[in-house]
Amino acid sequence: MVLPAFNEAKNLAWFLPELAAKLQGQARRLELLVVDDGSKDETALVVHGLIQQGLPVRLLRLSRNFGKEAALSAGLDAAEGDVVLTMDSDGQHPIATALEMLPAWREGFDVVYGVQTGRRASQSASRRGYTKFFYWLMQRDSRFELPSDAGDFRLLDRRVVLALRSLPERARYMKGLFAWVGFKSRAIDFVPDARAHGETSFNFMRLLSLAVVGLTAFSKVPLRMVSLLGFVVSAVSVFFGFWIILEKTLFGNPVSGFATLAASITFLAGVQLLCLGIIAEYLGRVFDEVKQRPLYLVQELTPPLDAPEEL
Ligand code: UDP
Ligand code: MG
Repeated sequence: MVLPAFNEAKNLAWFLPELAAKLQGQARRLELLVVDDGSKDETALVVHGLIQQGLPVRLLRLSRNFGKEAALSAGLDAAEGDVVLTMDSDGQHPIATALEMLPAWREGFDVVYGVQTGRRASQSASRRGYTKFFYWLMQRDSRFELPSDAGDFRLLDRRVVLALRSLPERARYMKGLFAWVGFKSRAIDFVPDARAHGETSFNFMRLLSLAVVGLTAFSKVPLRMVSLLGFVVSAVSVFFGFWIILEKTLFGNPVSGFATLAASITFLAGVQLLCLGIIAEYLGRVFDEVKQRPLYLVQELTPPLDAPEEL
């Protein structure tokens, strides 16, 4: 299991023991790998405490907060199991659903992903609108299907984990990468529980920037829209030009319009800056990829659970 955790000391203290108890009989060897994503609270301390108590827990501590996507990648790089489950460590992903995923894996599915139901109702209409637009954009350009409402609650066969490890990109939009690698997949519905302690770290701006990462990493549709927009605006302005000539020659109307001029200049400046911004996002993506910096840095990794004791 891989559990990314950012300031989850209070949640891990009850969630890990419960998880260990409920999953114990399910696997030959159970490994709960907590990825401490640069927490500011006692997350690492709590995890060490649980290890002392003999729980099958490992800790991978990153050197600072790298974000959930990087934490997940780090966890998948270090996870040892034949099958890996990724789960939030705030207890919002029900353990019962995780237990439902295992039989599907035994049946031969390589990926089992949780699909959130009952989320729609709790969100504002505008938020639902943005989400819909985002998925619409994402699904325009793809040969692979990006299921909406599927998140990072997943079961992955080792083959899939190895496939994910082999992806070189820095832009870790995990949901997209999970979908991109393919494999035989099945969805399982679940209703997320309420967060026991603390609050979500994904506010609107974080989600928006994640959406931009996802889009620029997986879709060229925005770039095509820029070209299309350029084409449409040029066509409209040609017609507009003809219209002015016609008005002058046929009807003798004077060529008028400081207001028209001012409005069209500001409008076009806006359109150009917008398009430049879109192109700049892609350029930024290339910049990040070219730098080839590691995705995350490890501060501490506890040894594998069945490692022989050192003398
Ligand atoms: N998380 C993380 N790094 C971050 C932010 C969040 O590892 O920078 C973890 C967090 O501890 C939790 C999971 O990602 O286990 C989901 O985060 P959260 O509950 O804030 O998001 P939500 O449930 O609202 O999607
Ligand atoms: Mg949560």
